[in-house]
Amino acid sequence: MGIIIAIDGPAGSGKSSTAKEVARRLGFTYIDTGAMYRSVTLEIIRRKIDICDEDQIEKIARESRIQFQWIGDKHHILLNGEDISDEIRSADVASLVSPVSAIAGVRKILAERQRQMAQDDNIVMEGRDIGTNVFPDADFKFYMDADIRVRAERRIKDYQSIGQELTVVEIVRELEKRDKIDSSRLHSPLKKADDAIIIDTTNLSFEEQVEKIVKIIQQ
Ligand code: C5P
Repeated sequence: MGIIIAIDGPAGSGKSSTAKEVARRLGFTYIDTGAMYRSVTLEIIRRKIDICDEDQIEKIARESRIQFQWIGDKHHILLNGEDISDEIRSADVASLVSPVSAIAGVRKILAERQRQMAQDDNIVMEGRDIGTNVFPDADFKFYMDADIRVRAERRIKDYQSIGQELTVVEIVRELEKRDKIDSSRLHSPLKKADDAIIIDTTNLSFEEQVEKIVKIIQQ
Protein backbone atom coordinates (compact mmCIF):
# COMPACT_ATOMS: atom_id res chain seq x y z
CA MET A 1 0.00 0.00 0.00
CA GLY A 2 1.30 3.45 -0.94
CA ILE A 3 0.67 6.80 0.74
CA ILE A 4 -3.00 7.66 1.13
CA ILE A 5 -4.34 11.20 1.38
CA ALA A 6 -8.06 11.32 2.20
CA ILE A 7 -10.03 14.49 1.47
CA ASP A 8 -13.65 14.58 2.59
CA GLY A 9 -16.29 17.28 2.80
CA PRO A 10 -19.56 18.49 1.30
CA ALA A 11 -20.15 19.53 -2.32
CA GLY A 12 -18.71 22.89 -3.31
CA SER A 13 -16.16 22.91 -0.48
CA GLY A 14 -13.35 23.00 -3.03
CA LYS A 15 -12.51 19.34 -2.56
CA SER A 16 -12.38 18.18 -6.18
CA SER A 17 -10.31 20.97 -7.68
CA THR A 18 -7.96 20.99 -4.69
CA ALA A 19 -7.54 17.21 -4.57
CA LYS A 20 -6.78 17.15 -8.29
CA GLU A 21 -4.08 19.83 -7.99
CA VAL A 22 -2.55 18.32 -4.83
CA ALA A 23 -2.29 14.98 -6.66
CA ARG A 24 -0.71 16.66 -9.67
CA ARG A 25 1.91 18.48 -7.58
CA LEU A 26 2.83 15.38 -5.61
CA GLY A 27 2.69 13.03 -8.58
CA PHE A 28 -0.03 10.93 -6.89
CA THR A 29 -3.06 9.25 -8.50
CA TYR A 30 -6.28 11.21 -8.08
CA ILE A 31 -9.51 9.32 -7.35
CA ASP A 32 -12.91 11.06 -7.38
CA THR A 33 -15.26 8.70 -5.51
CA GLY A 34 -18.26 11.03 -5.96
CA ALA A 35 -17.94 10.40 -9.70
CA MET A 36 -18.36 6.68 -9.01
CA TYR A 37 -21.65 7.21 -7.13
CA ARG A 38 -22.75 9.63 -9.85
CA SER A 39 -21.99 7.09 -12.60
CA VAL A 40 -24.14 4.43 -10.94
CA THR A 41 -26.90 7.04 -10.54
CA LEU A 42 -26.73 7.98 -14.22
CA GLU A 43 -27.18 4.35 -15.21
CA ILE A 44 -30.20 4.06 -12.92
CA ILE A 45 -31.77 7.14 -14.54
CA ARG A 46 -31.05 5.84 -18.03
CA ARG A 47 -32.59 2.46 -17.29
CA LYS A 48 -35.51 4.06 -15.41
CA ILE A 49 -34.94 1.90 -12.34
CA ASP A 50 -37.17 2.64 -9.35
CA ILE A 51 -35.14 4.14 -6.48
CA CYS A 52 -36.82 1.61 -4.14
CA ASP A 53 -35.57 -1.36 -6.17
CA GLU A 54 -32.37 -1.87 -4.17
CA ASP A 55 -31.58 -5.28 -5.69
CA GLN A 56 -31.51 -3.84 -9.21
CA ILE A 57 -29.52 -0.83 -8.07
CA GLU A 58 -26.92 -3.04 -6.40
CA LYS A 59 -26.74 -5.13 -9.55
CA ILE A 60 -26.03 -2.01 -11.59
CA ALA A 61 -23.33 -0.92 -9.14
CA ARG A 62 -21.72 -4.37 -9.37
CA GLU A 63 -21.82 -4.48 -13.17
CA SER A 64 -20.74 -0.89 -13.88
CA ARG A 65 -17.20 -0.60 -15.15
CA ILE A 66 -15.98 2.81 -14.02
CA GLN A 67 -12.62 4.10 -15.22
CA PHE A 68 -10.70 7.34 -14.84
CA GLN A 69 -8.56 8.79 -17.57
CA TRP A 70 -6.51 11.96 -18.00
CA ILE A 71 -6.65 13.53 -21.45
CA GLY A 72 -4.35 16.55 -21.32
CA ASP A 73 -5.28 18.33 -18.12
CA LYS A 74 -8.91 17.21 -18.14
CA HIS A 75 -9.97 14.32 -15.96
CA HIS A 76 -12.46 12.02 -17.70
CA ILE A 77 -14.82 9.39 -16.31
CA LEU A 78 -15.80 6.40 -18.41
CA LEU A 79 -18.81 4.20 -17.69
CA ASN A 80 -18.67 0.88 -19.52
CA GLY A 81 -16.31 2.50 -22.01
CA GLU A 82 -18.45 5.61 -22.64
CA ASP A 83 -17.22 9.08 -21.66
CA ILE A 84 -19.86 10.41 -19.25
CA SER A 85 -17.73 13.14 -17.60
CA ASP A 86 -20.22 15.96 -18.29
CA GLU A 87 -23.42 13.96 -18.04
CA ILE A 88 -22.79 12.92 -14.43
CA ARG A 89 -22.58 16.61 -13.42
CA SER A 90 -26.20 17.33 -14.46
CA ALA A 91 -28.85 18.55 -12.02
CA ASP A 92 -30.83 15.31 -12.60
CA VAL A 93 -27.95 13.18 -11.40
CA ALA A 94 -27.30 15.56 -8.47
CA SER A 95 -30.87 15.25 -7.29
CA LEU A 96 -30.82 11.43 -7.17
CA VAL A 97 -27.24 10.64 -6.17
CA SER A 98 -27.70 10.98 -2.40
CA PRO A 99 -30.56 8.44 -2.11
CA VAL A 100 -28.57 6.02 -4.30
CA SER A 101 -25.45 6.52 -2.16
CA ALA A 102 -27.41 5.77 0.99
CA ILE A 103 -27.98 2.14 -0.10
CA ALA A 104 -25.69 -0.12 1.96
CA GLY A 105 -25.03 -2.59 -0.87
CA VAL A 106 -23.95 0.16 -3.26
CA ARG A 107 -21.54 1.58 -0.69
CA LYS A 108 -20.04 -1.83 0.02
CA ILE A 109 -19.35 -2.51 -3.67
CA LEU A 110 -17.85 0.92 -4.41
CA ALA A 111 -15.80 1.16 -1.19
CA GLU A 112 -14.26 -2.23 -1.97
CA ARG A 113 -13.25 -1.00 -5.43
CA GLN A 114 -11.80 2.17 -3.93
CA ARG A 115 -9.62 0.10 -1.61
CA GLN A 116 -8.42 -2.00 -4.53
CA MET A 117 -7.48 1.13 -6.50
CA ALA A 118 -5.04 2.07 -3.77
CA GLN A 119 -3.27 -1.27 -3.68
CA ASP A 120 0.08 -0.25 -5.02
CA ASP A 121 -0.16 3.44 -5.70
CA ASN A 122 0.20 6.74 -3.85
CA ILE A 123 -3.24 8.30 -3.99
CA VAL A 124 -5.32 11.36 -3.23
CA MET A 125 -8.89 10.14 -2.79
CA GLU A 126 -11.78 12.52 -2.27
CA GLY A 127 -15.34 11.84 -1.13
CA ARG A 128 -17.51 11.77 1.96
CA ASP A 129 -16.33 8.71 3.90
CA ILE A 130 -12.73 8.22 2.83
CA GLY A 131 -11.12 9.13 6.17
CA THR A 132 -13.86 7.50 8.24
CA ASN A 133 -14.69 4.32 6.37
CA VAL A 134 -12.71 3.55 3.22
CA PHE A 135 -9.27 4.32 4.69
CA PRO A 136 -9.58 4.92 8.44
CA ASP A 137 -5.77 4.55 8.63
CA ALA A 138 -5.00 7.02 5.82
CA ASP A 139 -1.64 8.79 6.17
CA PHE A 140 -3.27 12.23 5.92
CA LYS A 141 -6.88 13.22 6.41
CA PHE A 142 -8.43 16.55 5.51
CA TYR A 143 -11.99 17.76 5.91
CA MET A 144 -12.84 20.70 3.68
CA ASP A 145 -15.86 22.89 4.32
CA ALA A 146 -17.19 26.34 3.47
CA ASP A 147 -20.15 28.61 3.96
CA ILE A 148 -23.18 27.29 2.00
CA ARG A 149 -23.55 30.44 -0.11
CA VAL A 150 -19.93 30.33 -1.19
CA ARG A 151 -20.31 26.64 -2.00
CA ALA A 152 -23.41 27.37 -4.14
CA GLU A 153 -21.66 30.17 -6.00
CA ARG A 154 -18.80 27.85 -6.88
CA ARG A 155 -21.30 25.32 -8.23
CA ILE A 156 -22.95 27.85 -10.54
CA LYS A 157 -19.83 27.88 -12.68
CA ASP A 158 -19.70 24.07 -12.76
CA TYR A 159 -23.29 23.98 -14.08
CA GLN A 160 -22.59 26.72 -16.61
CA SER A 161 -19.68 24.74 -17.99
CA ILE A 162 -22.09 21.95 -18.97
CA GLY A 163 -24.71 24.37 -20.32
CA GLN A 164 -27.11 24.36 -17.32
CA GLU A 165 -28.27 27.67 -15.86
CA LEU A 166 -29.26 27.35 -12.21
CA THR A 167 -29.76 30.14 -9.69
CA VAL A 168 -27.90 30.40 -6.37
CA VAL A 169 -31.18 29.71 -4.57
CA GLU A 170 -31.78 26.52 -6.56
CA ILE A 171 -28.27 25.32 -5.86
CA VAL A 172 -28.45 26.16 -2.13
CA ARG A 173 -31.59 24.03 -2.01
CA GLU A 174 -29.87 21.14 -3.81
CA LEU A 175 -26.80 21.31 -1.56
CA GLU A 176 -28.84 21.45 1.65
CA LYS A 177 -30.88 18.47 0.58
CA ARG A 178 -27.78 16.44 -0.33
CA ASP A 179 -25.92 17.45 2.85
CA LYS A 180 -28.88 16.36 4.93
CA ILE A 181 -29.20 12.92 3.31
CA ASP A 182 -25.42 12.39 3.14
CA SER A 183 -24.80 13.25 6.78
CA SER A 184 -27.81 11.51 8.30
CA ARG A 185 -27.69 8.19 6.46
CA LEU A 186 -27.07 5.03 8.44
CA HIS A 187 -24.07 3.72 6.49
CA SER A 188 -20.83 5.71 6.45
CA PRO A 189 -22.38 9.19 6.62
CA LEU A 190 -20.55 12.39 5.73
CA LYS A 191 -18.65 13.23 8.90
CA LYS A 192 -15.30 14.67 9.84
CA ALA A 193 -12.93 11.92 11.02
CA ASP A 194 -11.71 12.63 14.58
CA ASP A 195 -8.14 12.94 13.33
CA ALA A 196 -8.87 14.96 10.17
CA ILE A 197 -7.49 18.47 9.71
CA ILE A 198 -10.26 20.98 8.97
CA ILE A 199 -9.71 23.34 6.06
CA ASP A 200 -12.38 26.04 5.92
CA THR A 201 -12.22 27.40 2.38
CA THR A 202 -14.84 30.17 2.73
CA ASN A 203 -12.20 32.89 2.49
CA LEU A 204 -9.39 30.96 0.82
CA SER A 205 -8.29 31.21 -2.78
CA PHE A 206 -7.74 28.02 -4.76
CA GLU A 207 -3.97 28.48 -4.53
CA GLU A 208 -4.18 28.93 -0.73
CA GLN A 209 -6.20 25.73 -0.33
CA VAL A 210 -3.70 23.72 -2.34
CA GLU A 211 -0.69 25.28 -0.58
CA LYS A 212 -2.11 24.55 2.86
CA ILE A 213 -2.51 20.85 2.15
CA VAL A 214 0.73 20.39 0.23
CA LYS A 215 2.69 22.11 3.03
CA ILE A 216 1.25 19.83 5.70
CA ILE A 217 2.10 16.74 3.63
CA GLN A 218 5.62 17.88 2.83
CA GLN A 219 6.40 18.70 6.44
O1 C5P B 1 -18.47 14.74 -4.57
P1 C5P B 1 -19.77 14.77 -5.33
O2 C5P B 1 -20.59 15.97 -5.05
O3 C5P B 1 -19.59 14.50 -6.78
O4 C5P B 1 -20.58 13.51 -4.75
C1 C5P B 1 -21.87 13.21 -5.19
C2 C5P B 1 -22.61 12.39 -4.15
O5 C5P B 1 -22.04 11.09 -4.05
C3 C5P B 1 -22.62 12.93 -2.74
O6 C5P B 1 -23.63 13.91 -2.52
C4 C5P B 1 -22.88 11.67 -1.92
O7 C5P B 1 -24.24 11.35 -1.89
C5 C5P B 1 -22.16 10.59 -2.74
N1 C5P B 1 -20.84 10.22 -2.22
C6 C5P B 1 -20.78 9.35 -1.16
N2 C5P B 1 -19.58 8.91 -0.71
C7 C5P B 1 -18.44 9.32 -1.27
C8 C5P B 1 -18.48 10.24 -2.34
C9 C5P B 1 -19.71 10.70 -2.78
O8 C5P B 1 -21.81 8.97 -0.62
N3 C5P B 1 -17.29 8.84 -0.82
